Amino acid sequence: NEIFDEDDLDKLEDRPPVITIMGHVDHGKTTLLDYIRKSKVTASEAGGITQGIGAYKVLVPVDGKLLPCVFLDTPGHEAFGAMRARGARVTDIAIIVVAADDGVRPQTAEAIAHAKAAGVPIVIAINKVDKEGANPDRVMEELSSSGLMPVDWGGDVPMVKISALKGENVGDLLETVMLVAELQELRANPHRNAKGTVIEAGLHKSKGSVATFIVQNGTLKRGDVVVCGEAYGKVRALFDDTGSRVDEAGPSSAVQVIGLNNVPIAGDPFEVVDTLDIAREKAEARAVELRVERISAKAGDG
Ligand code: GDP
Repeated sequence: NEIFDEDDLDKLEDRPPVITIMGHVDHGKTTLLDYIRKSKVTASEAGGITQGIGAYKVLVPVDGKLLPCVFLDTPGHEAFGAMRARGARVTDIAIIVVAADDGVRPQTAEAIAHAKAAGVPIVIAINKVDKEGANPDRVMEELSSSGLMPVDWGGDVPMVKISALKGENVGDLLETVMLVAELQELRANPHRNAKGTVIEAGLHKSKGSVATFIVQNGTLKRGDVVVCGEAYGKVRALFDDTGSRVDEAGPSSAVQVIGLNNVPIAGDPFEVVDTLDIAREKAEARAVELRVERISAKAGDG
């Protein structure tokens, strides 16, 4: 299930980076994401509290321009690990948060391993530098002995000292992330049927199956027929990260999708197909595949 086809190549356009924040528990992931989220004020948000869809679009000022990026609000590594286990690679950059008063801990190492295994570039946020007992140099030493050499010491891993709580240097962190993104030359073809990955899904009491998709290539439109894992259906409504109804969603955007017959699983790939019949066939074929996988997994256990 390749994201790009050969006929995309001459139609590729720049797309925003998709970013995940990882790190050891209590090192400040939530505080950082909250700060980033709150510091962006959009017109549509001013009206009231909006329902989170598991991802946020943020505009970062770089060289006088506002560049978009998308943050996944996935709690820690489970989602990252689960998606990777299913072969999905939705993140372009991992911000790994390390508390300056605590240093590299087991989940820090795990996050680094995940990002490395997925081939995702890492930006380190050395957090809580405002705290008494903060020792950012020690964190840099620990990281360099685990193979991540800071740019400041001649290596290739950017490390930015921040206080997520006070918002200190978070702008620098975001700018650094955007520079790393620029080097990746992220592109997609917006002029084709959408393909991507489910990052969240659940059952809503009035809307039915509600899934958040990251569109990785193409443009998803209202009325499209999609299949993802064992679920399929016609897209009845799309909502963006501010909770507004939209008619379409281009590359790197996160959208909430209403209209599936079933609840897909985070990490399931989705694609747009021509007819509901094709969608049903693909979903049924996938259901059979999954059943076989489950049976052979059980046989393996015994
Ligand atoms: P998470 O488990 O990684 O999501 O960590 P949280 O964001 O929940 O932060 C854990 C605790 O550290 C909370 O009490 C935060 O207020 C605190 N914290 C986070 N960032 C900072 C910071 O930059 N400075 C200080 N002093 N405290 C922070």
